[in-house]
Amino acid sequence: MSDLLPGVVYGEDYKTLIQAAKEGKYALPAINVVGTNSINAVMEAAAKNKSDVIIQLSNGGAEFFAGKGFPDSYDGKVLGAISAARHVHLLAEHYGICVALHTDHANKALIPWVESLIDYGERHYEELGYPLFSSHMLDLSEEDIDFNLSESARVLKRAARLEMSIEIELGVTGGEEDGVGSDEIDNDKLYTQPDECLRAYEELSKIGHFSLAASFGNVHGVYKPGNVQLRPEILKKAQELVQKTCKTGNNPLDLVFHGGSGSEQAKIDEALQYGVFKMNIDTDTQYAFAEHVGKYVEANGRAFKHQIDPDTGEPYKKAYDPRKWLREGEKGMVARLDQAFADLKSAGKSLAG
Ligand SMILES: [Zn+2]
Repeated sequence: MSDLLPGVVYGEDYKTLIQAAKEGKYALPAINVVGTNSINAVMEAAAKNKSDVIIQLSNGGAEFFAGKGFPDSYDGKVLGAISAARHVHLLAEHYGICVALHTDHANKALIPWVESLIDYGERHYEELGYPLFSSHMLDLSEEDIDFNLSESARVLKRAARLEMSIEIELGVTGGEEDGVGSDEIDNDKLYTQPDECLRAYEELSKIGHFSLAASFGNVHGVYKPGNVQLRPEILKKAQELVQKTCKTGNNPLDLVFHGGSGSEQAKIDEALQYGVFKMNIDTDTQYAFAEHVGKYVEANGRAFKHQIDPDTGEPYKKAYDPRKWLREGEKGMVARLDQAFADLKSAGKSLAG
């Protein structure tokens, strides 16, 4: 197994990471972060589990990173993403694991956000010789496929010059993150068509590296089970069609599993056989953070109402110090990620040497 330097990976090294995952039938969790607490918890958990990991920011997470009081919402989305990425660049190598840095869903209205990040990325690359992000996501799955692929091709041309990848989406992942309710939507759209995956491969792989979020009944967030059926065999069909038509090796597509929270382990195991190298996790780590903070607040209730106990005179400084309860949230995230690294079978598989 080829060793990589610990730290942020991009370009050929990122492809090495992806290839190792696909061949080893494991996937890297991609966790949405919103601040240094969640970023550090992800790196701590990855180091603890000796797994490489993907850290990603949604546009909302990036805006939060810059501060909800930041004067301009659009600039906040751009600068917050840059700030978060710089934090990861500075610290990741010291945690001793490889980290790929992504941005998450950008629909048509958010293409300018991605392009502003690439503008900044070009200056960063010119100055330092490496890109700021490993990959940006363009989610044009609600547009027609011609527009989806032509826009993706245009952005990939820019990204590839900076040794960056893009992630695209075909078919619609259900759930509230996309503003698509799983019950309102035409069910066919929840299942990506293999011929569309083939078209994406033919049009994009000659330009640069891309990964593909294909829909196989996955839904963002956690809902009551039974509404939609996960059908990983759709991924298998897409891989076989590309392999046969383009005469590639096994599992040519680099697939991403969105909406993995709450999925049955058997379906995850099956998806890992069909070239899924990345599984997005947001809802479950949000809950883990909140659950642990909640337990702490419950156990230390009086410290959240009084600086000094009005009856006993006991000072509560040690209990209400934000480092105490934020740390509890981090520990909750780490514990949930212990499970994710085990579920995705990436524990112990870090390529960082
Ligand atoms: Zn998603």
